[in-house]
Amino acid sequence: MKLIFERSIEGYENDWIGSSDVPSYNLPNQFVRQQDLKLPTVSQNELSRHYTELAKATFGVNDGFYPLGSCTMKYNPKINDEVASFSGFKEIHPLQPVSSIQGCLETYVLAERWFSEINGMDAFTFQPAAGAHGEFTALLMIKAYHQKNGDTKRTKIIIPDSAHGTNPASAAMAGFEIVNVASDQNGCVDLAALKAAVGEDTAGLMLTNPNTVGIFDKNILEITDIVHQAGGLNYYDGANLNAIMGVVRPGDMGFDVVHLNIHKTFSTPHGGGGPGLGPVGCKGLLKEFLPDHYPLMTEEGQFDFSTPKSTIGMVKGFYGHFSILTRALTYVLMLGAEGISASSKTAVLHANYMLNGLKDKYEVPYGSHCMHEFVLSLEKVKKDTDVSALDIAKALLDYQMHPPTMYFPMIVPEALMLEPTETESKKTMDEAIQVYLELYDLAYENGEQFHEFPKNTLVGRLDEVKAARSPIVRYQFTESGD
Ligand SMILES: *Cc1c(COP(=O)(O)O)cnc(C)c1O
Repeated sequence: MKLIFERSIEGYENDWIGSSDVPSYNLPNQFVRQQDLKLPTVSQNELSRHYTELAKATFGVNDGFYPLGSCTMKYNPKINDEVASFSGFKEIHPLQPVSSIQGCLETYVLAERWFSEINGMDAFTFQPAAGAHGEFTALLMIKAYHQKNGDTKRTKIIIPDSAHGTNPASAAMAGFEIVNVASDQNGCVDLAALKAAVGEDTAGLMLTNPNTVGIFDKNILEITDIVHQAGGLNYYDGANLNAIMGVVRPGDMGFDVVHLNIHKTFSTPHGGGGPGLGPVGCKGLLKEFLPDHYPLMTEEGQFDFSTPKSTIGMVKGFYGHFSILTRALTYVLMLGAEGISASSKTAVLHANYMLNGLKDKYEVPYGSHCMHEFVLSLEKVKKDTDVSALDIAKALLDYQMHPPTMYFPMIVPEALMLEPTETESKKTMDEAIQVYLELYDLAYENGEQFHEFPKNTLVGRLDEVKAARSPIVRYQFTESGD
């Protein structure tokens, strides 16, 4: 495929770019570039073809089955985009007077009410840009809470070994030490290990429930109580909310603060790294620490931004990615209370349907029932045939199916983690089950060939290490080398 620079025609003039409608300004000389910017020049038609070609070279949720465990790749209803593109939502500027964006602020307040109700929380911020950013924000709030109470010895965050890697990373970035607790043989929190880990230095616990092997921890009330008794706070990683929304609430499980992944549970696009949204909800005790610029309704019935009493400050420019919030709120309002619980129940049903279709052949390390996702282990297949989880994942691409999550959670060797979601049809799941079973048999019949899959994609098997360690992400200009 040609890159946009290779499509460029020298000297081509684009007269369809409108002239600037703001006064021009001359920068001081030291900030002015000394060389001309190397921009490709192509016609609108060629530009459009370039992006269409790029879009065809990838695989998205609109292309086929995409059962990416933990990531909840559900259908993104198109009405979300329609509402987000209303001119009153789209044609606004972050610095325009508050009196002229009353409807947008009302959207925040309405979203806060719905998300608080779904999660059993008292308040929400929509500033963080993704789940991991939400974790970081909430951990700063936990830190501020302990500091305000003069509890400065609380420097440790407890995290189970099944957790997503962002949990320890966010805790470390927020300045905490990490205490790892092992999982028991069911993949759940080992209560004895947790009791041994808590103490006067515990700032809090970070937990995903259902956990990353797709199992709801039955001891959840005891777990959150152990942490509270020790003086710590409980943090809910909401990445798996799709299994329980409208059925059980993190607030009722004993959690004090949660993050949500809007691009997972609430059907907004995952979109190549952004813009995303990772709202943080909290109980009343943490409300005064929420990020600055907190939208609310004043006593006069107007909407305005406010500064929470002990705010941690802002975590994102302006108010977060507003157009993602409008999409998520549209989704919630379209479903309504009944639709929300129906969708999570259907997600759980679908995962169990697939698990049942696969468990006679594939090894299922944790139980015969699951919540919205489940984990297979290819450990034995690998030993018997030298076909790994990665090889199966690559082979799936030839069947126009996106691979499931691989090698996560790390407590399962040769893991494949499937999450069909509520929006797949029985037919699609039946086809997928068939393909997985065929690949299993093929591994035992002729494992050798697996190392060359995929064969029918634009790009074949990549050198994974090289692709990760030395990717070429910028066009290499030949003549000057810059
Ligand atoms: C996806 C995920 C995260 C991180 O969320 P991002 O929105 O990708 O930053 C955290 N925890 C779990 C369990 C996840 O699946």
